[in-house]
Amino acid sequence: MKIAVASGKGGTGKTTVAVNLAARAGLRGESAIYVDCDVEEPNGHLFLKPEIEEIRRVEIPVPVIEDEKCNSCGECGKICHFNAIAMILDKVLLFPELCHGCGGCFHACPTGAITESPRDVGKIESGKAYIDAPDGRKVVEFIHGVLNLNEAMPVPVIRDIRKMIPEKKWVVIDAPPGNACSMVETVRGSDYALLVTEQTPFGLNDLELACRTVKELDVPVGVVINRSGTGYTGVSEFCAREGIEILAAIPESMEVARIYSRGDIIVNESGQFASVIDGLLKKLEERTGSAR
Ligand code: SF4
Ligand code: SF4
Repeated sequence: MKIAVASGKGGTGKTTVAVNLAARAGLRGESAIYVDCDVEEPNGHLFLKPEIEEIRRVEIPVPVIEDEKCNSCGECGKICHFNAIAMILDKVLLFPELCHGCGGCFHACPTGAITESPRDVGKIESGKAYIDAPDGRKVVEFIHGVLNLNEAMPVPVIRDIRKMIPEKKWVVIDAPPGNACSMVETVRGSDYALLVTEQTPFGLNDLELACRTVKELDVPVGVVINRSGTGYTGVSEFCAREGIEILAAIPESMEVARIYSRGDIIVNESGQFASVIDGLLKKLEERTGSAR
């Protein structure tokens, strides 16, 4: 089952929840994969410390113009939604960094003046993370994408990651924060979206936006409150009003903060945190109908 872990903004504990869900499932001996689609700032690897076995480049096709064949008709500029190609006087100008590689201009050109050339936008690394359990080492499969520096095109990397995800009992996908295209591309087609939030007015505001986006994707949604216990009730009231289930509340804890700051896997060391994650796994199994 594919569980996308998302949040309206960064810093809510999304990666902590995603990493520890995958790790705990792996520790229980179940097939699990952690997939980091937060390609602009992937950091799940800092905790899982995977051994990378394969690296694939991600390229998009960008147009190249053959001036001799171009009749300056301007059709390429008209079809480009991203202003990556435009007519200036009677000359075609290209802005490759804006190009999404959609192919529209190649097809629109009536004279065959446009050909494709690949542009490297990032890479996908995959391998295995080994987690020590009392009865031996357990494996969690690992995939993450890394967008090239100064590159503004995360969606092609996310799209390629999604094509690589193998069937596992637990596919835990760490989504990019926010509500933009990259979050939508990550959550689309998942069996369930877990939205991680915090009990503050800012947390509520971002949660409302994220819920609206996920509901449009027709993916069932539930909430995890991280660092709960602030006394602010706006988040619970919103969830009750919207009929959104709060699947878990993770209390603020110095122990958890210490383990996190060392870059370690929290379920390995904190019994209290592990039991919250166990409860979450159980509810996810029930809500997605994958309970045995
Ligand atoms: S491939 Fe698509 S995005 Fe790129 S220049 Fe052509 S129409 Fe625009
Ligand atoms: S569509 Fe083709 S022929 Fe027309 S301006 Fe663009 S490159 Fe030139």
